[in-house]
Amino acid sequence: MRGLSPYVPGEQPRHPRLVKLNTNESPYAPSPRVLEAVASAGADALRRYPDPSSTALRETIAGHFALAPEQVFVGNGSDEVLAHAFLGLLKHPRPLAFPDISYSFYPVWCGLYAIEALRVPLDAALAIDVDAFPSDCGGIILPNPNAPTGRLLPLAEIERLVAAHGDCVVVVDEAYIDFGGVSAAALVGLYPNLLVVQTLSKSRALAGLRVGYALGDTGLIEGLNRVKDSFNSYPLDAIAQRAAVASFEDREWFDDCCRRVVATRDRVTAALEALGFSVLPSAANFVFARPPAGAAAALFAALRAEGIIARHFDRPRISEYLRISVGTEEEMDRLLAAVQAWCEMAGGTAARP
Ligand code: PMP
Repeated sequence: MRGLSPYVPGEQPRHPRLVKLNTNESPYAPSPRVLEAVASAGADALRRYPDPSSTALRETIAGHFALAPEQVFVGNGSDEVLAHAFLGLLKHPRPLAFPDISYSFYPVWCGLYAIEALRVPLDAALAIDVDAFPSDCGGIILPNPNAPTGRLLPLAEIERLVAAHGDCVVVVDEAYIDFGGVSAAALVGLYPNLLVVQTLSKSRALAGLRVGYALGDTGLIEGLNRVKDSFNSYPLDAIAQRAAVASFEDREWFDDCCRRVVATRDRVTAALEALGFSVLPSAANFVFARPPAGAAAALFAALRAEGIIARHFDRPRISEYLRISVGTEEEMDRLLAAVQAWCEMAGGTAARP
């Protein structure tokens, strides 16, 4: 274990006037129906063990995607679902392929489960090229939209990738799909090698509840259940199961919340571009932006001093970018004011082009 390099989650600082734009949480409260479900959970929900198979929740999710409950797996956040997929579906003698710039938990699970990683380079525009995945890999995983770039692959490209690699499992991690993409869930019935993973943490404003799920062929779901029942039979507590069901029942809240996040994202993108930033086209609830002269580390520190926390990855090819989550309109106004002040100050120094 001493040889592992564990994942480092974004910081959760305690600060009264903090503008927290570093972990892509929703800036809005979850559906009132979710709060009601939590508040009305009685003593028995706590006294008894929860349903180990989360039957009602899996039925609700299956109904939402027009699938059967046997095609749905749920876990304690999509991180747990992904971890089980690494161990149960993606560990093979041949290496597991994923984009070189991608969710930084993937190499950590490779380390934990002794899976050989094959990093497939993004193209010059930091986009995923599905033709770059080699035909002889043991499995494929990619986020769509990608993180931390926010760039989206159209459904037709995902289908091309899944069809071209019929002999291995392809996992599409759709943590951010609800902010502008089309889910590959519709392909699940067509391709037995496809696993689609989603979460309630982002578009349903439930990061603290810890609920994620996978959609796939019954054979893949059975594999995940085998891992789960060899690890923890009760990954979802009784309150989480009830609250997650309530979230799926409030379609109106969901549509409105996604629409507001997308509108704010597009406004912030335009404002940053007007200040000389280059901003990758985002289909997520964050933007990946390169400040003038690529001075991302300096901007990160300047924002932090103002109580505004973004995320900076000191890694090759992306060290000149900041990932900024979409907050409320007011939070983004504070961000933009701080960015503008920094640009004006940096204008007199070498940091400005
Ligand atoms: N996939 C991606 C690409 C993510 O960015 C995250 C959030 N860190 C997750 C999965 C996991 O989210 P959760 O465990 O909250 O469902």
